Amino acid sequence: MRILLVEDEEKIALFIKRGLQEAGYQVETCGDGNQALDDARNTDYDVVVLDIALPGRDGLSVCRALRQHRRTMPILMLSALDSVPDRIAGLDAGANDYLTKPFAFEEFLARIRALLRKIDATEATSLECADLRVNLLSHKVERAGRPIELSNKEFALLEYLMRSQGRIVTRNMISEHVWNLDFHTMTNVIEVYINYLRRKIDDEFPLKLIRTIRGRGYQISGEP
Ligand code: CA
Repeated sequence: MRILLVEDEEKIALFIKRGLQEAGYQVETCGDGNQALDDARNTDYDVVVLDIALPGRDGLSVCRALRQHRRTMPILMLSALDSVPDRIAGLDAGANDYLTKPFAFEEFLARIRALLRKIDATEATSLECADLRVNLLSHKVERAGRPIELSNKEFALLEYLMRSQGRIVTRNMISEHVWNLDFHTMTNVIEVYINYLRRKIDDEFPLKLIRTIRGRGYQISGEP
């Protein structure tokens, strides 16, 4: 497993690199945002660990640019910032997880393992629900053959609903799986994103796929 570690503070970079190598990972380091973007676009890393405050280009911008270029590798964002808006900004930029410095190294490793497990679990390359089709590799979404543009976050939410097709997912489950954040900070954000998805996926079609299950959560289903 090959990891790109983007961190400009040498001591921290060396500490993390050694720890990852001891855990058996191959690690390359980079201390500049522009260089990191080049490296991550041109090499197939299994995970990118990305600091936010970087010379050249900050981590949020690197992350956004990678997702715009359809690079789908898991990204773990590191930052000294710990307010909820900062974490949301990191995740909305397309990061899969967010860890605040200083962190316990064991927790850092556990998060890397969790990100790698998610890749292994991705066996299907496309998911379908009625006439809605979601390609997990290209991130192309279409309904009745018409392409639908989604943001990274909308896509992640839709992917989670599709993987749970026919089951009810609670807001708590969504916040854990899609945002990796505590439920109580997330309620409004989830509703907002469900509405974004509905507008793009259901509004123009008589059969509504995304359903609200009152008092419990949401469900995607192709059954009339
Ligand atoms: Ca830094």
